[in-house]
Amino acid sequence: MENCGGEEYLFKIVVIGDSAVGKSNLLSRYARNEFNPNSKATIGVEFQTQVMEIDGKEVKAQIWDTAGQERFRAVTSAYYRGAVGALIVYDISRRLTFDNVARWLEELKMHADSNVVKMLVGNKSDLEHIREVPVEDGRKLAESEGLFFIETSALDNTNVMPAFQIVVREIYNNVSKKML
Ligand code: GDP
Ligand code: MG
Repeated sequence: MENCGGEEYLFKIVVIGDSAVGKSNLLSRYARNEFNPNSKATIGVEFQTQVMEIDGKEVKAQIWDTAGQERFRAVTSAYYRGAVGALIVYDISRRLTFDNVARWLEELKMHADSNVVKMLVGNKSDLEHIREVPVEDGRKLAESEGLFFIETSALDNTNVMPAFQIVVREIYNNVSKKML
């Protein structure tokens, strides 16, 4: 979904994963980033746009939130359409949300382009005392499925920026390679 008019890029990124893993909080935490004065949080619609600069070019990340559709397993194909990046989020304190990652990956495979950049996100790393998913399990799954991997806390604001930025950077790299 890149728009290469001049030096501008627009990337659609979707956030998926079970209900209550922290998807919306990750996005709002990211969208309030103080390092990004151009950021614009859109309220009442399904996505937020973040503007950043990579290699002197303006890159817009349009990040989509499921807005609760996942509760009814009713994430539509329109949600995935045109996505070039995806964050698949689970909650490190709820094993089931990690076990369901496989299903989210399947759904992604069904609806999105095969070379979509994927980041596995183990959220709520602040809940170490009730952790049910070892870091190593996340890392292994990511390795076997070809995903980036990071643990985050939307609460503590740990690793939230890199979770999104690594995805945007990788998409950008893929696109600029193609244009050579
Ligand atoms: P979504 O359904 O995936 O969008 O999840 P939400 O963002 O609505 O969060 C679900 C619940 O988890 C809320 O009660 C949040 O306050 C809580 N939550 C989200 N992120 C974190 C986190 O990093 N740590 C902790 N402890 N709680 C979180
Ligand atoms: Mg939500």
